[in-house]
Amino acid sequence: MNNFSEKIISWYKQNKRDLPWRNTQDPYLIWLSEIILQQTRVDQGMEYYLKFAGAFPTVKHLAKADNEKVMKMWQGLGYYSRARNLHATSKIVSEKYKGSFPENYQNILGLKGVGEYTAAAIASFAFNKPHAVVDGNVYRLLSRVFGIETPIDSTQGKKEFNTLANELIDKKNPGLHNQSIMEFGSMQCKPASPDCSVCPLNSMCFAYSKKCVSELPVKSKKTKVRNRYFNYIVLRNKSSVALNKRGEKDIWNNLYDFPLIESTKELTEEQFLKSADWRSFMEPLPEYTVRSVSSNYKHTLSHQKIYARFWEIECNRSFEKLLPESAIIIPKQKVQDYAIPRLIDKYLKDRPL
Ligand code: SF4
Repeated sequence: MNNFSEKIISWYKQNKRDLPWRNTQDPYLIWLSEIILQQTRVDQGMEYYLKFAGAFPTVKHLAKADNEKVMKMWQGLGYYSRARNLHATSKIVSEKYKGSFPENYQNILGLKGVGEYTAAAIASFAFNKPHAVVDGNVYRLLSRVFGIETPIDSTQGKKEFNTLANELIDKKNPGLHNQSIMEFGSMQCKPASPDCSVCPLNSMCFAYSKKCVSELPVKSKKTKVRNRYFNYIVLRNKSSVALNKRGEKDIWNNLYDFPLIESTKELTEEQFLKSADWRSFMEPLPEYTVRSVSSNYKHTLSHQKIYARFWEIECNRSFEKLLPESAIIIPKQKVQDYAIPRLIDKYLKDRPL
């Protein structure tokens, strides 16, 4: 074992958080936790992990579940493609691999929704195979300790960090090493102002000795964020409301929101009511009442900022003819039975139907 590995493992043994997926070598539960934890904080992911592991104790239970149920249980976690891949992969493991997760790294990597990082985590935690995990925490830690300035979002950077991480891994205890490096990066070598004075790696840390901790790691590109303006039409009568099932090639695929008019900029109420889009949308229904107009909701996704306003429209006559094919009309009290994005959930909590 090298000095680096020895130090992080010893730190890990004293400082690790007690997390339920760390007390198992069951590849199904490890995979489940890793998919949930992609782009999700541990405290938020915990509740979902316990819920899924409780409802579906084995991969076969998950494979047999109804897709709408899986999506509904995922509600609130975001990045819904993870839930779709989770369900698809459970079926593959259940059928092609007869319910046993593949042990081989390449086969694990071949599963839907499993990238190099997740494949290395499963291979090392469940099967003790020497594949190094490299995620944001590992990039940060290695760039600081070894003074690597190659941008972490470049092809060259990915190669360089991956090679180094695999050189450093403790071949006898790859699972423990990987757990340690992830936890160390997340808890000790934090993105902003880590407490270097108590760090067991400070004597060998380049960034600490050169006083450039805040300058590492280096990123070359900034993520481009696109602004979008959603004008939601909440069509309702005394007992029913219209929901829209979202299609592919956009955010929230297969989740339900309301019929929508998207505009290129934020519109005032007056501008919206005068717009051609609104007038042609409502044309088939001459009589209606604008019951309320919400304030603006801002919802941030990784590459998009959504500015949403909700128009609640009370209809005296049938509003079916206004709706696109993807829409459905449901009893108002059933809305929470459908998988809806967090933005819609927030609005409904502020203004129940
Ligand atoms: S000394 Fe500071 S920058 Fe270096 S590894 Fe430790 S916490 Fe990170």
